[in-house]
Amino acid sequence: MIEPLCFNLDDAVPRASEILAYSGFPEGREVPARFTELGQRALATLRELATPAGLRERVMTDEALEVIAGAGRNATDSPIPGICGRATALAFYTITLGPAVCERIQQCLKNGDAAFGAMLDAAASSTTDRLATIAAERFREECQAEGRVTPAEHVLPYSPGYCGWHISGQRRLFDRLCPDRIGLTLTETFLMQPIKSVSGVFVVGPRDIHLFRNDFDFCAACVTQACRERMRGLVCGPPEGTFHA
Ligand code: SF4
Repeated sequence: MIEPLCFNLDDAVPRASEILAYSGFPEGREVPARFTELGQRALATLRELATPAGLRERVMTDEALEVIAGAGRNATDSPIPGICGRATALAFYTITLGPAVCERIQQCLKNGDAAFGAMLDAAASSTTDRLATIAAERFREECQAEGRVTPAEHVLPYSPGYCGWHISGQRRLFDRLCPDRIGLTLTETFLMQPIKSVSGVFVVGPRDIHLFRNDFDFCAACVTQACRERMRGLVCGPPEGTFHA
């Protein structure tokens, strides 16, 4: 069954200091007042324009693996099928911030207000990721309340376009969830519109299923190395001040 995901935007909007990190501002450096002001403006605009919405569908392991296989373009060696194969609970999801924020970002960039556009872009990306974290944790809590998973189990979201799951996998995911009902569509190159959207699979299971060596062929070209931060969070807990749903 495909279920709507509803959000309280206040739960997901980051602090101005956090969006600076998202915008690439070097950690530990003193923040110029102009940047702080831009961040505050970006957050006010985000609160005014964002209309978050999402969909979720609980799935069995074999269904998940079939969709993740996509059109057969995944890396031959990827951690994701193995992680899903050992999961206790799985759900496909898609979440969007809505079109208005994305349109405002485009307007800013087009009209020469690039600094504010970049800050709003960072605020929107951070909020979208936080919405996914909130929805993932909500899924884990529901599974725990049903007695399907233990309190010691962890949830992480995995998405097409990362870690060997080819971006073309979005098509199977979209065929499954039909997110056009929340205004979310896919371009021919598998980009989501509105662009500030996320999709993938929530994977709940023992901590160890989420831990792996990031030495796959495609890791050499990975700019974010995001898995390291995620795994560190599972092993050490989130760093102080980090959002945790
Ligand atoms: S290094 Fe990048 S591509 Fe490799 S597993 Fe980690 S996040 Fe995925």
